[in-house]
Amino acid sequence: MEALVLYCRAGFETDAAAEAAEAARARGDAVRVSLGQGYAVLEVEARGGAGSVSAPGPRDLIFSRQVFRATERLPLASAPDRVAALCEGAWRQARRLGLRGYSELFVEAPDSEGGRRLWPLCAALSGELRAALEGRGLLGPRSPGPRLHVFLSEDSTVLLGTSPAGGVSPWPMGIPRLRFPAGAPSRSALKLEEALLAFVPEGERQARLRPGMRAVDLGASPGGWAWVLAARGIRVTAVDSGPLDRAVLETGLVDHVRADGFTWRPPRPVDWLVCDMVTAPARVAKLVGLWASRGLCREAVFNLKLPSASRLGEVRRCAAVVVRELGRAGRGHVLRFKHLYHDRQEVTGHLRVEPAPRPGGGEKAQPARARRPQEERHGRARRGERRRPVPRDGRQ
Ligand code: SAM
Repeated sequence: MEALVLYCRAGFETDAAAEAAEAARARGDAVRVSLGQGYAVLEVEARGGAGSVSAPGPRDLIFSRQVFRATERLPLASAPDRVAALCEGAWRQARRLGLRGYSELFVEAPDSEGGRRLWPLCAALSGELRAALEGRGLLGPRSPGPRLHVFLSEDSTVLLGTSPAGGVSPWPMGIPRLRFPAGAPSRSALKLEEALLAFVPEGERQARLRPGMRAVDLGASPGGWAWVLAARGIRVTAVDSGPLDRAVLETGLVDHVRADGFTWRPPRPVDWLVCDMVTAPARVAKLVGLWASRGLCREAVFNLKLPSASRLGEVRRCAAVVVRELGRAGRGHVLRFKHLYHDRQEVTGHLRVEPAPRPGGGEKAQPARARRPQEERHGRARRGERRRPVPRDGRQ
């Protein structure tokens, strides 16, 4: 067999499959889709027999959390033979694909009600299978091969496959294990944490999210996102008519502005715009495009609340709105969307714009960050009383 296995939030299988199938059909391949709960399987037949299935680029897929190429389906053997059967399957696959071994092992099951019942088995199997594969020299740091996926589905079948190192997501099931930041006022904090991990490569995170930068948070109450930015030493203007949590204000890095996020503009450009206002997605898209095209921010993370039908179409319409705004201003950009693990009926967008060229050439424009915003500030700690947010790993 040869198929793509896509993991997604339960209820979004059609969107994930449609998106990936579209990419395969555009290459002229024939596709047969079957949907599970929390996953979809695409059997792809490369027309003309030319080559094998290749996963769509990780950056292109919005609704798939993780993608791997399955090459073998086998029944889940009974307990005494299970590890040996899986180890044998992994060896067969390696031989077929011409691999010396695998760099990582992911034993996974769907993120669905039924699939979650298999997670304890996945954890147990993971340890035993790892030891068995290492014993046969098929897994380990000396095997610079792809990652090995062992996917258990509810009907007691196993799909074995591979994904490139790094792949669509570095986490098993594409689910980041984030600890809730101690003291953060809302679980939304995890959403922005995940977005920053997903959209800003690890090697660039320190430079692109550094102390002293400035951000605007539109729709900030109660302050989970502002907390995440302040935890990185970023000064935040939080715009919302609703209240901000006391702990957020006491960081001394967050200024509260009670204003309409659609009409408020910063007195000078900022490094980051984040926007979590619950409203029509196209309105948010237009606003983000407008900020970026006017050079008011360099990067933006924003949430688009999705309708229950034609979700992929809606994201694409919104992407077109952002691009249109930027096109008018002639700004180069990178725009991505991802249905993150912490997203429910929404997707998260990330936009990075190239700095505007200065008239007459010369140095690129830099957002100013010397002056403090003129707006009202609430809850600023007295001098010497600045409260640092708890670090991201939750340590006090
Ligand atoms: N990101 C926040 C956090 O981490 O705590 C949660 C934001 S909540 C989902 C949405 C917020 O958007 C609400 O507090 C609401 O008051 C705000 N909002 C909606 N429309 C707005 C507007 N036009 N201007 C400013 N805030 C708005």
